[in-house]
Amino acid sequence: MIGQYLKKLIYPDKCIVCRTLLEEENAGYLCDKCYSFVLRNHLCPKCGRPYNIGGKDCAYCKAEDAGDITQIIALFPYKDHFRKSVLRWKYSGLRKYARGYADVFVTDLYALDKLSIEGLVPVPISEARKRKRGFNQALDLAEEISKLTGVKVYDVLKRTKETKPQSKCTKKERLSNLKGSIGIKKDSESLSLNNIAIIDDIYTTGATVRECISVIKRQEVLKSAKIYVLTVCIGI
Ligand SMILES: [Zn+2]
Ligand SMILES: [Zn+2]
Repeated sequence: MIGQYLKKLIYPDKCIVCRTLLEEENAGYLCDKCYSFVLRNHLCPKCGRPYNIGGKDCAYCKAEDAGDITQIIALFPYKDHFRKSVLRWKYSGLRKYARGYADVFVTDLYALDKLSIEGLVPVPISEARKRKRGFNQALDLAEEISKLTGVKVYDVLKRTKETKPQSKCTKKERLSNLKGSIGIKKDSESLSLNNIAIIDDIYTTGATVRECISVIKRQEVLKSAKIYVLTVCIGI
């Protein structure tokens, strides 16, 4: 008890988004204010952005080709505190954030139940980046979601070549940068699933996810699988 108390005193629980101290009775990971910003209203049924207003077609879906994605579920817009939160998670080694994000997907949005997800496939990072960072944040998130739901993680994808960070590419470079950059691990068990969720940290142009999907869809047994995307932040 004392140990727990001291630990709280030294490492008080802070909101993983805005870092304000959480009240004792708030056992979650987000403060009430940040929690209220979770994307849940007026969502486009395909891309998950909050632009389904008055039954008009979503401007994003019109402009970009989401390809074989059945539906995207995003927690936050990729801006402000939310952007900073996800960047701290990735680059400052705050791995415990994965648990907080997973909690919102599972116990707040019920995303896994609603979509009958049968398998979680994290977006892979290259070996070099993994060595530098020490972990793949998407795999961490998938594992936390799995702990809460029992849905299995299939870490079957891998980077087959080192790519420039997408953020450093021009729009034109982005596609060719990623082409053929993702493959399936040789020893991966065959995943015969109907509903798959690709797990990602940030969805902006969707180029990486589309590359993952094209690899998945090349597997004969997955040709007609529905592919969902669970991402912490989405470019808006
Ligand atoms: Zn907050
Ligand atoms: Zn849309």
